[in-house]
Amino acid sequence: MDRDPRYDILFEPLEIGPVTTPNRFYQVPHCNGMGRAYPDSMIAMRGMKAAGGWGIVCTEQCDFHHSSDITPFTETRMWDDADIAYLAGMVDAVHEYGSLAGIELTHSGHDVGNMYSREVPIGPSHRPVEAYNYPGQARAMSKRDIRDYRRWHRDAALRSKRAGFDLVVVYQGHDGTVPSHFLSKRQNQRTDEYGGSLENRLRLYRELLEETKDAVGDTMGVIARFAVDEMMGSEGLEWESEGREALEMLAELPDLWDVNVSDWANDSMTSRFAPEGYQEEYVRFVKQVTSKPVSTVGRYTSPDAMVSAIRHGVVDLIGAARPSIADPFLPRKIEEGRPEDIRECIGCNICVAWDMRSAPIRCTQNPTMSEEWRKGWHPEQIAEKESESHILVVGSGPAGLEATHQLGKRGYQVTLAEARGELGGRVTRESRLPGLAAWARVRDYRLGQIQTMANVETFLESELSAEQVLEFGADHLCLATGATWRHDGVGRANRSPIQGMSRDTVLSPDDIMDGKRPAMGPVVIFDDDHYYLGGVIAELLSTEGYSVTIVTPESIVADWTQYTLEQGHIEARMKQAGITILTRRNVVRVSAGEVVVLNDLTDQEEVLPGSIVAVTMRLPNDHLYNDLMALGDAAEEAGIKSIRQIGDCYGPSLIASANYEGHRYARELDTEVDIDAVPFKREHHKLELA
Ligand code: ADP
Ligand code: SF4
Repeated sequence: MDRDPRYDILFEPLEIGPVTTPNRFYQVPHCNGMGRAYPDSMIAMRGMKAAGGWGIVCTEQCDFHHSSDITPFTETRMWDDADIAYLAGMVDAVHEYGSLAGIELTHSGHDVGNMYSREVPIGPSHRPVEAYNYPGQARAMSKRDIRDYRRWHRDAALRSKRAGFDLVVVYQGHDGTVPSHFLSKRQNQRTDEYGGSLENRLRLYRELLEETKDAVGDTMGVIARFAVDEMMGSEGLEWESEGREALEMLAELPDLWDVNVSDWANDSMTSRFAPEGYQEEYVRFVKQVTSKPVSTVGRYTSPDAMVSAIRHGVVDLIGAARPSIADPFLPRKIEEGRPEDIRECIGCNICVAWDMRSAPIRCTQNPTMSEEWRKGWHPEQIAEKESESHILVVGSGPAGLEATHQLGKRGYQVTLAEARGELGGRVTRESRLPGLAAWARVRDYRLGQIQTMANVETFLESELSAEQVLEFGADHLCLATGATWRHDGVGRANRSPIQGMSRDTVLSPDDIMDGKRPAMGPVVIFDDDHYYLGGVIAELLSTEGYSVTIVTPESIVADWTQYTLEQGHIEARMKQAGITILTRRNVVRVSAGEVVVLNDLTDQEEVLPGSIVAVTMRLPNDHLYNDLMALGDAAEEAGIKSIRQIGDCYGPSLIASANYEGHRYARELDTEVDIDAVPFKREHHKLELA
């Protein structure tokens, strides 16, 4: 199909200094937890973005000197010539598809403890290292340090050129780089020409831009990645004042302005806290102050929103990290006139969480992310069927839907049976909770694909028993029956049931999603899950008029959401809603209208009046599987060749995990799987001593 002419503008080339991007799709630098530790995986992932049509594909943060060592995080490095080879490998992978390759040169300054290199951290002023309360300090850079620093940056730009990069990103942003620390009034207490006035605080960044242009600007485009607003009012940079003035001072220096808001938690806000295109209001002014092209990010997945941002003069290029992770082929799909095939990012930040834990990123929507090299998985291609088998998939949550989708794509005959009156399992149910509407995209993308497949049929309101499954006559059974939240309090903090907690006295998240409610009045949410659901239910009940207290055994509420960059936003929203947050408390007893908690700091019991909703852990819905097993040889006699459980009914976990398991099931059907062998390629270092 031809592309819709409305989207032509997205495919117009654009000059960025001496280079030309073939289109307006700019995969901005994004961390991926692979980098220098898993370089083959990283290279294959970047190459896939280029194959999918991104006109510019950038590295992640690339530390350009050993005094910037972001250990334990896994990014790229350009510390010396030895780093050129693997980065050149990425450049080649990107060039293969005619895209431009960019590198983001980064020095994290006082943000990092240099735990591997053991160099003393540096910054504009003496101050404690920022990251995770590392108990060491950064020292104030002398004039000589500043000169050295500029030389290191220039050297790294020259090495980038040797590696073959077309674009170099001079990185001021996210409150996480030396130039951003110099620019910040909060961080820069210098009294020399690098401190004080805006012009002085901007001096280092100006020098970096000028010197980079001078060193490599003849063949490479120079991108200024710049945060114009820190979203903290007058405490930080604001776009209406110093953000704008800074842009005006440097307006014509770079070849492209890549502008955003800071810090990372604001730049990469989840869909729960910000809609698509939310940064436009902060960066709209930029095109008025520069003649150079401008780009921003904002979780753009809709071609109409992209075109609108360009036509309204906000940007020239559409920057994207997460949309390119969820769908590396997003540009191609628009180009080929099939935007309905886009696998839209749901804005959950599971990708960020894996990077934050120094693991290769995972994606809730794209189960092939980071599997391009090690498993050879392509996000759009899958092998054709190996037999004429008919597969019965039971349960239509993310696991069942993805298995059905990919099995259908392989050409198998697939029947999907769902007990409820609607498809989607947990994503459908959770997407009705406050702020989680975008979760439904996990279902909608797959339904959109399945609906076009004549070899796939779906049945609603079909709760199947073991006997019915046997009668059905499928060759393979794929059970994706999900999991159920417990009522008895057992979870992380409590290994045995809590006194007084049972189905009769406690509501679970499933009950809340089924529409059940506690008696109106005070309610205690016991969050021993530490992810999003406890907070979301607290928000829901608070909106409905309950007086809500959230109790958690952890030191902060929704502890794990630190990794999805949501914790601060969640806590702020709770405070705004008047929700009481009680940390380091465990529930010890529940009786009529009372919840007794033990305060870990005082060792005293506290009585909280009200009902309780417990968000602790789930148990797999494995009755169907167990019933089938109990029937002995009956399945074999019925001609069933395999029975597999996938997703939450096998091991309750994240939506991303269920999706991955559904995908894996479909890939592995009719293939020989050696369960004793590691199921992917591994990256091995060259050893000097062995
Ligand atoms: P997952 O995350 O593993 O995909 P979900 O809980 O989202 O799991 O989805 C499981 C789905 O399976 C639910 O929609 C549930 O209604 C359905 N289901 C559970 N048991 C049966 C059954 N015996 N027959 C048909 N559908 C079932
Ligand atoms: Fe988007 Fe979530 Fe995938 Fe990240 S993990 S790209 S936020 S869908």
